[in-house]
Amino acid sequence: MSKVIIIGAGGVGSVVAHKCAMNSHVFSEIMLASRTKSKCDKIAADIEQMHGVKIETAQVNADNVPELVELIKSFQPKMVINVALPYQDLTIMDACLETGVNYLDTANYEPKDVAKFEYSWQWAYQDRFKEAGLMALLGCGFDPGVTQVYCAYANKHHFDEMHYLDIIDCNAGNHGKAFATNFNPEINIREITQNGRYWENGEWIEIAPMSIHKAIDYPGIGPKESYVLYHEELESLVKNFPTIKRARFWMTFGQAYLTHLEVLQNVGMTRIDPVKFNGMDIVPLEFLKAVLPAPDTLGENYTGQTSIGCQIKGIEGGSDKTYYVWNNCDHAECYKEVKAQAVSYTTGVPAMIGAMLMLTNSDWQKAGVWNCEELNPDPFMDLLNTQGLPWHEQINGVLPHEY
Ligand code: NDP
Repeated sequence: MSKVIIIGAGGVGSVVAHKCAMNSHVFSEIMLASRTKSKCDKIAADIEQMHGVKIETAQVNADNVPELVELIKSFQPKMVINVALPYQDLTIMDACLETGVNYLDTANYEPKDVAKFEYSWQWAYQDRFKEAGLMALLGCGFDPGVTQVYCAYANKHHFDEMHYLDIIDCNAGNHGKAFATNFNPEINIREITQNGRYWENGEWIEIAPMSIHKAIDYPGIGPKESYVLYHEELESLVKNFPTIKRARFWMTFGQAYLTHLEVLQNVGMTRIDPVKFNGMDIVPLEFLKAVLPAPDTLGENYTGQTSIGCQIKGIEGGSDKTYYVWNNCDHAECYKEVKAQAVSYTTGVPAMIGAMLMLTNSDWQKAGVWNCEELNPDPFMDLLNTQGLPWHEQINGVLPHEY
């Protein structure tokens, strides 16, 4: 029985709050806090109506450490689940250290003025969390998050050495909007418009955005054009599994999405540096976010599925082996359960599972800063099956994209 504070009341925060409330035997008291309290109140009302559980709400500016400290001291949780934006990771980690509370997030820190993600800023907290006897679990959504748990599971049960890893991420859903992003538009567009990168033979190979692509045959969906992107979990995976010779991340995009994005880039709307408008400084990408549909409004009438998995080639007992592990998730089913689309759902459920394990399982209670592949994957894999994200596996079968 543990108290928890969830920070961020967007698409993902709403799913985390619903799923924690649905597991109130572990999360005995829940507070949802965010910049806009009315959004927290709306989610709290849905939760009470759908699951009969009351949660508390609060307003907080998570860029401000003293404000966070005051909130955490007043509620006294065992941990904070950070599902605000990556910009807030360090301030929330600072506040957790100051109040003696454990920490979990779903995306690694990015400075607001540089579109660049890497773990260095958060890994630098290692000694402080260790000395305080506190745990910080980084990137516990689906990708990053479950993709690393899948790799840890494959490494533990299926391989002596993993050599080739392809993380493949497909959203074959249709939300009926001309252009929208499935999670925070600002973060999403920053991720997609920067150079791609993958790991090969001990070094990072940098490529122009979207310049490597091919059709990948996703289970239950069929072939979809998929593009190599840099994704943050690659950094920790190649560090923690040094036998990996090549690691790539692929994501699907429809032609209409790419055309909109190209136009937005060409006219300067994806810029992250301030421009003067009517005497004010505005950041074009922040303005664009304000006019695009919010991710938490896409759920109703969203149809189709996501499919995310890891395909791995390596050796076991001296022989070549391939292993593919994946989850398919249906947008409409997610909406029925927690009023969310599948991209928010596949992020929020693993965040809740990570928090549940940190509160209940000694293998997941370790002082220091951790990435998901560094902990015992078995209890996490069990909970995925019972908490809404069942997985499937295939050994030495036909792969979605052949080597
Ligand atoms: P949203 O934009 O829908 O929600 C973000 C929430 O954070 C909003 O409620 C926003 O408040 C709040 N927020 C922003 N700044 C502050 C602040 N300074 N203080 C307090 N609250 C703040 O994003 P999503 O829910 O789609 O994404 C949430 C996180 O999940 C992001 O970090 C994203 O990168 C990550 N993610 C991870 C994935 C994974 O698989 N690992 C996949 C998808 C997302 P307001 O309502 O006022 O704007």
